[in-house]
Amino acid sequence: MVINLEPALWGFMTEQLSLKMNDNFHIPVVGLGTWKSEPGETTYQAVIDSIEAGYRHIDTARAYGNEESVGSAVRDSGVNRGDVFVTTKLRWEDEGFESAIEACEKSLARLACDYIDLYLIHWPLKDKRNDSWQAFIELQKKGLCRSIGVSNFTIDHLAELEDKFGILPAVNQVEFHPYHYQKELLDYCNSKNIIVEAYSPLVHANRMDEARLVSISEEIGKTPAQVLIRWAMQRGMVVIPKSVNKNRIIENFSVFDFNISDSVMTKLDELDESFVTCWDPHNPPPYAPV
Ligand code: NDP
Repeated sequence: MVINLEPALWGFMTEQLSLKMNDNFHIPVVGLGTWKSEPGETTYQAVIDSIEAGYRHIDTARAYGNEESVGSAVRDSGVNRGDVFVTTKLRWEDEGFESAIEACEKSLARLACDYIDLYLIHWPLKDKRNDSWQAFIELQKKGLCRSIGVSNFTIDHLAELEDKFGILPAVNQVEFHPYHYQKELLDYCNSKNIIVEAYSPLVHANRMDEARLVSISEEIGKTPAQVLIRWAMQRGMVVIPKSVNKNRIIENFSVFDFNISDSVMTKLDELDESFVTCWDPHNPPPYAPV
């Protein structure tokens, strides 16, 4: 097995490649994304298939409407709850101090879990994000969330949290792939010991046939999806590809037995075109100002 990931540590409860967060908990490097995974049987089966394939990290959110399905699959998987890392997120409609506390309790009830491994503020909502962060600090103290983090935060948002609270998130989950290589944000997060979690790491399936990526995949002998996932891992990130297809779930986890050379990593870096597939905190939608 080739492990050439400098900051990575072996040692998350089971044999999972994981990164140590700034609160000393570990986060498995590859997780299953579940945005747009239909609640019910589809999400349930995807989570079961992923755990069978070796995943020990599932990413859900209140906004995805599938927390119940994730929770029941984790329970039925036959793997101890303590060996599966579950992330969920506070939707922007629930931001604020009291509402965040209540939303967390409701997410726990839907997941039917005693604690959330990682709770994220889904969006840096203007005028609310600081109250939400205060609530997250309380939730962590109460043990309802082991780790707390944010999503879609820019450098300015992170600096604001540091100024106001002195407590930085363990993770910033943002869109990250070679076509949107946010190097400045990654460098900043690394300097602050915040793990970057790459969402839409497969470019939301928008670039699978792109000529340069296909050519690199052929050169390495891996699929475009595997190249994209491995690129994120080698850049020191956690990565959460989504699939509801068993074969693709297995394919996306088969990323631990090869290494991308430095020169090919650089070629992948050069694919950057600031291509945003999801929501962009630098150009926020009017209903969710930052
Ligand atoms: P991804 O980049 O993971 O791409 C998912 C798409 O790729 C789906 O259409 C999937 O289809 C397809 N796919 C999966 N594997 C393969 C493969 N091996 N070959 C070809 N196609 C493949 O997109 P997401 O936007 O879903 O991002 C991943 C996760 O990140 C989300 O599910 C969510 O958990 C999180 N996220 C968080 C956000 C936030 O604001 N915090 C925003 C966006 C995402 P199929 O299922 O049919 O295989």
